[in-house]
Amino acid sequence: MKTHFSTVLFLLSFLLAGAQSQILIKNVDVWDGTSNKLNKNVSVLIENNLIAAVGKNLAEPKGAKLIDGGGKTLIPGLSDAHVHLSATMSDKETRNEAHWMYTSIRTAKAAENFLMLGFTTVRDLGGPVFGVKRAVDEGLTPGPRIYPSGAYISQTSGHGDFRSANEPSVLLSGGQMHTSDAALGWSFVVDGVPEVLKAARENLRKGATQLKVMAGGGISSDFDPIHSVQFTVEELEAAVQAAADWDTYVAVHIYESKGAIRSLNAGVKCLDHGHLINEETIKLIKEKDAWLVPQAFWNDTPASFWVPGSDKIPDALSKKIKPVLEGTDNVFKLAKKYNINVGFGSDAYGDLGYEAYALTEFTSRAKWYSPLEILKQATSENARLFSLSGKLNPYTEGKIGVIEVGAYADLLIYDANPLEDITIVAHPEKNLKLIMKDGKIYKNEL
Ligand SMILES: [Zn+2]
Repeated sequence: MKTHFSTVLFLLSFLLAGAQSQILIKNVDVWDGTSNKLNKNVSVLIENNLIAAVGKNLAEPKGAKLIDGGGKTLIPGLSDAHVHLSATMSDKETRNEAHWMYTSIRTAKAAENFLMLGFTTVRDLGGPVFGVKRAVDEGLTPGPRIYPSGAYISQTSGHGDFRSANEPSVLLSGGQMHTSDAALGWSFVVDGVPEVLKAARENLRKGATQLKVMAGGGISSDFDPIHSVQFTVEELEAAVQAAADWDTYVAVHIYESKGAIRSLNAGVKCLDHGHLINEETIKLIKEKDAWLVPQAFWNDTPASFWVPGSDKIPDALSKKIKPVLEGTDNVFKLAKKYNINVGFGSDAYGDLGYEAYALTEFTSRAKWYSPLEILKQATSENARLFSLSGKLNPYTEGKIGVIEVGAYADLLIYDANPLEDITIVAHPEKNLKLIMKDGKIYKNEL
């Protein structure tokens, strides 16, 4: 009897899955993700997970769910090109102390938080996220589409070498990598071309859609000055080759010009941060049609962003942060002057709830860019960046970052027009009335 019943359920769900689900959103002003103005008073028809029509006076299909947009503004779902969904606690806790299952559940919660802020796609630039990506894609838990990188690829004493001072080198510990780092997928600490290739391929095997390589000093790591250049030309080229052989690309963590230029010449396609790069480097980004993903909001954050729970930044950390923040204005000015490809990425992590800092990036960028330019960066421009994942792109049914026929039904409805006032996006609890991802509604206050 039990078997019989479950067979019926299975057939029923199969029939339901095959049935066309339609949603017609009427009476909205649409920004399509690329053009410089709104398409006023139109309707958007969604069939299953894709946009089927956009236009005036669309016929109302029989059986479709109707939503009256009330003259509000509909835009593509936002994306964040630099997140670490699994980094919701201190390094010590996540890597050594917390049970991996607890960390996974917090990772899922961070994914849900990003979605509820309006981010329907993120590029995860390091940390264990493959399981949560799968769970989100299967609909087990709410979250944005995820382009995962897997474990950081770092040299010894690089930005991904988070061993404590007394932790032995792999050379002194029988060749064993730090268990949690390597096994859980936080970081591969590798040196020399063969090890870089192995780490790159290990990430690709797990489903990385791009690789994240540490090419210079970082703020949160203890053993690498900001000015340090990490990985040799040959090592960087090896990572680029391994990525290219899978039809994808390498993104690097870098602040300074020397490491940035070395990376670009090795074939790296995306520089993340880059706050201290000079004009020569910006020109090289332009020449190579590469990308820059800097963080403006860092200059507008309290100390508790850098050290959760604290209102003071310790001196050692402050020494690293200060020069980086001093470079922010210059890099944005140069990026704008040369009109290079700029992605929207926040690197907002540290605790659950810190996802909201990603929204500060919208208002902080307003010092250099118009609301239209910033919104493009966070939608259609980021989509161009994500498309560098080539044949590894996991989301190929439709486009992302735009509102057009055939695109994924990833869309937001705001109370007011964010093209006129970017702060609208920064307060979703008040202004964001509808969130749809993949044709599914996650918030509806209309
Ligand atoms: Zn990062």
